[in-house]
Amino acid sequence: MSGEHVSVRLIGDYARGDANIGTDELWALEAHLENCANCRTRLSDAVETGAPEIASLVTTAWCGLERSLGTATTMPTRRRRPVWLSAWLTPVMAPWLAMTVGVVLIALALDLAGPVFGEVSLVLLLAPVLPLGGVAASWSRGLDPAYELTAATPRAGLHLVLRRTASVLAVVVPALLAAGWPAGVSAAQWLLPCLALTSAALALGGVFGVARAALGLMAVWAAGVLVPSLLTRSESAFLDTDSLPVWGLLLSLGAGVVVIGRGAYTTAPGASR
Ligand SMILES: [Zn+2]
Repeated sequence: MSGEHVSVRLIGDYARGDANIGTDELWALEAHLENCANCRTRLSDAVETGAPEIASLVTTAWCGLERSLGTATTMPTRRRRPVWLSAWLTPVMAPWLAMTVGVVLIALALDLAGPVFGEVSLVLLLAPVLPLGGVAASWSRGLDPAYELTAATPRAGLHLVLRRTASVLAVVVPALLAAGWPAGVSAAQWLLPCLALTSAALALGGVFGVARAALGLMAVWAAGVLVPSLLTRSESAFLDTDSLPVWGLLLSLGAGVVVIGRGAYTTAPGASR
């Protein structure tokens, strides 16, 4: 190499693929070419004049590439899902909601089969807590593979909590209404306790995480209402029409706590700690 740039002789040898260039010289040449546009241009010219067969090989390769690039299939555009589905439901909720509807149907079948549990209606006993299962599932970190992703979105927080809860109720409540009619259960008996317990789950969810709060309330309901009613074969006083004002109070209390503590849901892990 002479002076600052690669010598004409060396560039010519390199362009022709001369095998006699020393290894140290080759190293120095390639290192220089990486950083010197001037010498790269000289090399390109040397290839065209000194090694026309290489130049034509490169041209052929480019022509072939251009042809296949022209016919390459482009990425298919994303298929759009119905907006309400993707915005309101998480995919993990689908099996849970299906299971909830299944539970309603089994309870209805038992109610219709005759007095399995005396005068107690299983549909009525389960109705107030059924949405809690869906609410817990929609905020379960273990069930939802996209949990961390959802928790990090700007719309996480109370907005998302309410949307998911509403979508659970939108599926479970009509199923219960449909089952209540043949079972002879009035919606007036369970709708208010159902909404009150759901709001309580959200209110407690600000502290314990929605999933944990919902599961806890289901356990309390099972121990305090479901099992005693089945054992005594009599309807729980909690489901009396006399208890409705208490449920109404609990509903407004839960809603109030959710609104006041809405900041607790913006760090969405709060929704499922
Ligand atoms: Zn140079």
